[in-house]
Amino acid sequence: MEKLLLGVSSCLLGKQVRFDGGHKYDSWVVDTLGAYAEYFDLCPEHQCGMSIPREALNLKGSKESYRMLTNKTLVDYTDQMLSWSLPVIEDLKKRPLCGYILKSKSPSCGMERVKLYPLHGGAAGKTGVGIFARELLRAFPYLPIEEEGRLHDPVLRENFIERVFVRHRFNRLMAEDLSPGGFVRFHTIHKYLLMAHSPAHYREMGKLVAEIRKYKIQDFSRLYCELLMTACARHATPSKHQNVLLHLLGYFKNDLDAFEKQEMIRLIAQYKDGIIPLIVPVTLLNHYVRKYDKSYLAEQIYLQPHPMELKLRNHA
Ligand code: SF4
Repeated sequence: MEKLLLGVSSCLLGKQVRFDGGHKYDSWVVDTLGAYAEYFDLCPEHQCGMSIPREALNLKGSKESYRMLTNKTLVDYTDQMLSWSLPVIEDLKKRPLCGYILKSKSPSCGMERVKLYPLHGGAAGKTGVGIFARELLRAFPYLPIEEEGRLHDPVLRENFIERVFVRHRFNRLMAEDLSPGGFVRFHTIHKYLLMAHSPAHYREMGKLVAEIRKYKIQDFSRLYCELLMTACARHATPSKHQNVLLHLLGYFKNDLDAFEKQEMIRLIAQYKDGIIPLIVPVTLLNHYVRKYDKSYLAEQIYLQPHPMELKLRNHA
């Protein structure tokens, strides 16, 4: 499989770029996801011109307006960080990025809940966003962006990885088959994945696809991408999964006997009640897809949205 391109904070790869000369090697990022990803890493603090080691930085100010200053000597690095970040982010737009993993809590890379100190002393609130992360989030509102800390949560990890692989397939569509037919096929194979995230977006996207010939293909792809990534950012809840699984079961109404149907319905209910993980009913459905040669379902991304080896959908 062609590796997908992800941006990442350099210290998560084990590079010794932190203020104290250390790193924050993340084995899931490097060893597990790294089997499928090519990383483009950046260390905003080091690459904008700060030394290793260096004095630690803090965000200071109010939620509406804050600066990035060194801890003790109070040197303001905000403008230096911004003038490095903006052209780098422009360059990132030219790359087929599928997502970005940021280092949490950092005054440069943290995407939320970074300590923000009042200008004239006092306790920090966790209301800041790192200076580089803030610009990245502004420039890429539809790119899957997460922090390594949040990726330890199985639900957030699953959602992030699913979005990353959706974006990877979308980027390939843009590079290889930018045509009305390509979009129709892409939309068709993502039907149940989209239904699991947002049935309303799926319907809206269906209307857009039906009118594809009214648009210039570049305008269409931008609109479609925005809806696609917004839809996938909505969490796929157990109720929405249950709805999709029951829909999929409907394709076997003439194939399964009463006992097999009841067994499947029981597994879907157990998943919905949090007793078994999603992978259980999905695995049995995949078995039936192969056994009864359901070619339409075999193409549905919902049934295999990411490599099994990532062990997602395994939590109840
Ligand atoms: S958190 Fe960001 S700025 Fe800090 S060391 Fe890691 S990559 Fe560099």
